[in-house]
Amino acid sequence: MTRSADLLDRYQASLLGVFGRPGAVLSHGEGCRVWDVDGRCYLDLLAGIAVNSLGHAHPALVTAISEQAARAIHVSNFFTTQPQVELAERLLAVAGAPEGSAVFLTNSGTEAVEAAIKLARRTDRTRIVAMEGAFHGRSTGALALTHKPAYREPFLPLLPGITHVPLGDKEAVRAAVDETVAAVVVEPIQGEAGVRVADPAYLQLVRELTAERGALMVVDEIQTGIGRTGQWFAHQFADVTPDGVTVAKGLAGGVPIGALLTYGPRVSGLLTPGQHGTTFGGNPLAAAAALAVLDTIERDHLLDHVRRTGEELQRQVRELGHPAIRDVRGRGLLQAIELADDRAAAVAQRAREAGFLVNPVTPSALRLAPPLIITAEELATFVSALPALLDPTASEELP
Ligand code: PLP
Repeated sequence: MTRSADLLDRYQASLLGVFGRPGAVLSHGEGCRVWDVDGRCYLDLLAGIAVNSLGHAHPALVTAISEQAARAIHVSNFFTTQPQVELAERLLAVAGAPEGSAVFLTNSGTEAVEAAIKLARRTDRTRIVAMEGAFHGRSTGALALTHKPAYREPFLPLLPGITHVPLGDKEAVRAAVDETVAAVVVEPIQGEAGVRVADPAYLQLVRELTAERGALMVVDEIQTGIGRTGQWFAHQFADVTPDGVTVAKGLAGGVPIGALLTYGPRVSGLLTPGQHGTTFGGNPLAAAAALAVLDTIERDHLLDHVRRTGEELQRQVRELGHPAIRDVRGRGLLQAIELADDRAAAVAQRAREAGFLVNPVTPSALRLAPPLIITAEELATFVSALPALLDPTASEELP
């Protein structure tokens, strides 16, 4: 029995079965490559689902975490630390948030969304408008905003007062947002729904409607933020200033973290002392890791790099002109390859056997969310392997 098979059996005997049987037992990584416990190497085109923004074992991140761990991993929120304060300042700066804006640091995306829900509740309104196809997390509050019936239905009834409208339908959102709505929550790109990009004009309309009708506009950038799309935040493509932004995933390169950014003094004053809190959120280890990620993105000009490599990837996939590929969509290094039929799971499995980690995000779409440091050459190895991966009869010719 291989080490992988042994550990997978033990996994199934000891871990709660919510994720099914994992695809591999990973051991370590370097750059954009990861190895499993049997020594097989993979090109990581998923990055822990848009988390390992600097790839694996990046020296800047390893140094920042090691040095901070040797100083202080955690302090209670009766106190603060220099990394925590610096991180809040840096986040507000890259967001271009106005004077009087503020940050609440959490341990995950879901927790950032929970903070946003509580922020919205402090407007003295209780209704929230979210989008069909939305994914905002699995805790009972965030789940109420998440749209997928399979995730919601086993746990009904959820938080009341949530209305889902079709993403991009201007009439529907116009009709849904009235003076009883506390907030509209929207992802600039719906990652979990298959990388569905919101039209900038739609985000601008949401901004206009919410401003006019006294509701908050909360943008969930948990998957799209911190350089993933080639801007610090994907809503910056639409040139809107929201009232709240949630961030997590790639922010600390793999160390658990999340954040809610509140824009301006009015919104930032909605949650007052004692109305929210967390034990681990904003601890100096996670904050130091996040600062290293932000520094590296800036120092290595990764926003430009992400934009260019994303465009190049799209161009190469289109140039294949493969009949099994219907479309490639996304921004920067958050892309989906839409297949002509529901074979994404089988193709992802073949890709893994051929040494590529990709995600069948819907039955017909493969999601790519590689480390932001991936090179065009590394991406090209996957594109050249695609025709063989898409051909169900060519198993012996896998690259
Ligand atoms: N919001 C979005 C847009 C996400 O993509 C995710 C996770 O995939 C979440 C919220 C939940 O974040 P987490 O899994 O860190 O709790």
